Amino acid sequence: MKEESKIEFESFVKHMPKVELHLHIEGTLEPEMLLRFAQRNEINLPYKDIESARSAYQFKDLQSFLNVYYLGASVLREELDFYELTKAYLQRCKQQGIMHTEIFFDPQTHLSHGIALDVVMGGIRSALAEAECEWGISSALILCFERDRDAESTVSLLHDAMKIGGIAGIGLDSAELGNPPRKFQEVFQRAKNLGLHRVAHAGEEGPPEYIWEALNLLKVERIDHGVRCLEDSGLVERLLEERIPLTVCPFSNVELKVFPDLESHNLGKMIDAGLHVTINSDDPAYFGGYLNENIISTVNCLERDINDIILLQKNAIEASFCTTEKKKQMFSALENYVDGFLS
Ligand SMILES: [Zn+2]
Repeated sequence: MKEESKIEFESFVKHMPKVELHLHIEGTLEPEMLLRFAQRNEINLPYKDIESARSAYQFKDLQSFLNVYYLGASVLREELDFYELTKAYLQRCKQQGIMHTEIFFDPQTHLSHGIALDVVMGGIRSALAEAECEWGISSALILCFERDRDAESTVSLLHDAMKIGGIAGIGLDSAELGNPPRKFQEVFQRAKNLGLHRVAHAGEEGPPEYIWEALNLLKVERIDHGVRCLEDSGLVERLLEERIPLTVCPFSNVELKVFPDLESHNLGKMIDAGLHVTINSDDPAYFGGYLNENIISTVNCLERDINDIILLQKNAIEASFCTTEKKKQMFSALENYVDGFLS
């Protein structure tokens, strides 16, 4: 790409009204905030300064990342911490042109540190409500269960969260290998009965069978990651037939060695197969970039073009859990922007 058109392309992405569907709020904990919260809550970390915290953000696989991620989450103690963390991410959304975001949180991590659910949800929900009011950024909150924990307490946790309110759906995250979706059938059935949306991480490190299980047993509406689906042509057919969205996170996949580099990522092949793919940032503080950086670098490295970016954003609007009316508004915001840019 020529320097001039590269600048134009980056500006197109940065100002484009966008949707993000795969974002863990605990994964937006920047090193500066990590150290500030640790100091405020008198928690000892193995990092002395920002540089040593930053250098710990290097991973060889999903598990090595999760170890650092859960250590980071241990500094989140008070409602104010959850509020400030969420508000800082939403401030990024404002800077990045994100008009709607669907956010995961991991209540079991915080409960295991003795933090009450209403403290966690209270802080997150206040920030979400403020961002909608102040900046017009809409959101949905998705409660994630950690698949490497016991499934036993998940149903009562779901009911506690429902009493507090403000949950749009449930998800499944954390260490995938050895923890197949089938463990969580009961809580996903309960969520369906309660009218909640359902998503699950599957087919990132885990095999295509986990995607089948998430679809057949958990009845999920979206697959988070799902990049290994291309290993199974029958699965690709199913994903195409039902137009199941896949929330792909390129920086995360490279950082966690699912692909050796962005040039080897299979996003382009997924687009060409006609799959309903979207681009997302996953845990941006840990993986080197937010949504715009993910889009710009991936599209550049895979030598895709502006039409792919528009397609990925249309996919994201369609795959969101917004009302039909809200989706219409977002489609027209996107179309107006594209028309204005290309004219
Ligand atoms: Zn994720």
